[in-house]
Amino acid sequence: MAKAAMTVIRGGRVLDIKRHAAPKADILVKDDTIVEIGRPGLAAPPAATMLDARDRLLQPGLINGHTHSHGNLAKGMMDRITLELLLTASPYMSGARTLEDKYLSSLIGAAEMVLKGCTAAYDLAAEFPMPTAEGLAAIGQAYADIGMRATLAPMVADTSFFEAIPGLMDRLSPSLRKEVERYRLAPYKASVAQMKKALHGWKLASKGVQLAVAPTIPHHCSREFLLACLKLSKDYGTGLHSHVAESKVQVIAGYQLYGRSLAAYMDSLGLVGPDFTVAHGVWLDGDDMKLLGDRGASVSHNPGSNMLLGNGIADMRGMLDAKVNVGIGTDGASCSDNQNMYENMRLASMVSKVQGPDRQNWISTEEVLEAATAGSARALGLGDRIGKLEAGYKADIVFLDLGHVNWIPFNDPTNQIVHTEDGSAVHSVMIGGRMVVENHKLLTVDLAQIARKAEKTRERLAKGRAPAKALYDRLEKVVGTFCPGLAKQPLHIDRYAGGHHHGHAH
Ligand SMILES: [Zn+2]
Repeated sequence: MAKAAMTVIRGGRVLDIKRHAAPKADILVKDDTIVEIGRPGLAAPPAATMLDARDRLLQPGLINGHTHSHGNLAKGMMDRITLELLLTASPYMSGARTLEDKYLSSLIGAAEMVLKGCTAAYDLAAEFPMPTAEGLAAIGQAYADIGMRATLAPMVADTSFFEAIPGLMDRLSPSLRKEVERYRLAPYKASVAQMKKALHGWKLASKGVQLAVAPTIPHHCSREFLLACLKLSKDYGTGLHSHVAESKVQVIAGYQLYGRSLAAYMDSLGLVGPDFTVAHGVWLDGDDMKLLGDRGASVSHNPGSNMLLGNGIADMRGMLDAKVNVGIGTDGASCSDNQNMYENMRLASMVSKVQGPDRQNWISTEEVLEAATAGSARALGLGDRIGKLEAGYKADIVFLDLGHVNWIPFNDPTNQIVHTEDGSAVHSVMIGGRMVVENHKLLTVDLAQIARKAEKTRERLAKGRAPAKALYDRLEKVVGTFCPGLAKQPLHIDRYAGGHHHGHAH
């Protein structure tokens, strides 16, 4: 047996989220795991490698509860775009990708995440018209090459956006209707076969990359498909992840199609349980939150994306009160335009404070930071291994530079991580006992080489996307009026700023 690699991290200040404190402590790491956190001068085997952490604040790696690796090649392409227009634009923004493009897009996102203090992510990767075992292997390899953990869930559907929104197809001209037929997805059995193949031959578990299943949006999947996803997740012991009640249009579509909320519909099929994660949940009502809490389910709260797409503001307090496990996410770079968990923590705190005058309902910084670490970890299915700096947990540690201007002066580590830090004081990042970032430099891949490759890829994709853009421009006129029309219908809850807080089911 190989001798264990021991590392002792000396001289740092270790974050205690709840106490808003960071006492000096040393951390002993054996292979990929924290074995002891103790007073300065902690005994360590003489052969242990010493890491100097003086003037560093040590915090658990942030965990991104919801992102999309395919979005990283499309960052900054759009503005003033609703979720429904984003879905319409996705063939234009993220279509025609080669296997190498999928790898590259994931690599860019993973690089950004680790450089900004994020050590694990729930990635809902897209491939059109269905996921492939090869595509998933390529995307997973990108995380492995960066040295970051990921729960990789291929987004699947068998109903296109145009077919999924009641009445939308009828608004398209016959010629447009014919055009969107090319956006038809693969039959669900084909997607299931590919996911099975990927799950069966998965080789990256030892690299910290695992698979999960993501029926992308409830009404974008047939009932049979949702049940097949549930079976897959049970057979292979994976998580389930779905965009539920992200936009008001989705909730209205759900009532029209199923006569109930989307969360209640998913529950009626048996999908809602401890392994189930809702992305966004902006338009969940009180009953939905109670249902999710009772079932032990999670929500990834992604405030940056919710605001950018005009979806409204999720009720994180309502979720916590209902005992829902809440994580924090960035969402894809195609609709939040970066992968910065510090920014999303800050937003999660701030948006809670504009939802009502009762400050006891506002989300505290420790609640936000718990959500972005232990909360997201549980959503990823890794709650017993990551998200905390404690003996027995994986050594996923962010070293913040206390000499950085963000930390001058150092008053309160919990408040300052959430409200002051923006990622620029991330000095070094350890994942599973291995340094992935040191002195602001990525150690595992060559960022300059990635930049050159990305520029070539960007050029090629831009050249090829004119027809998809032309079609988007025609569709935009219809979707851009039909969907806001739906969203102007009254609903028993309101999640737009200025709306009523804590709505009740009718
Ligand atoms: Zn998403």
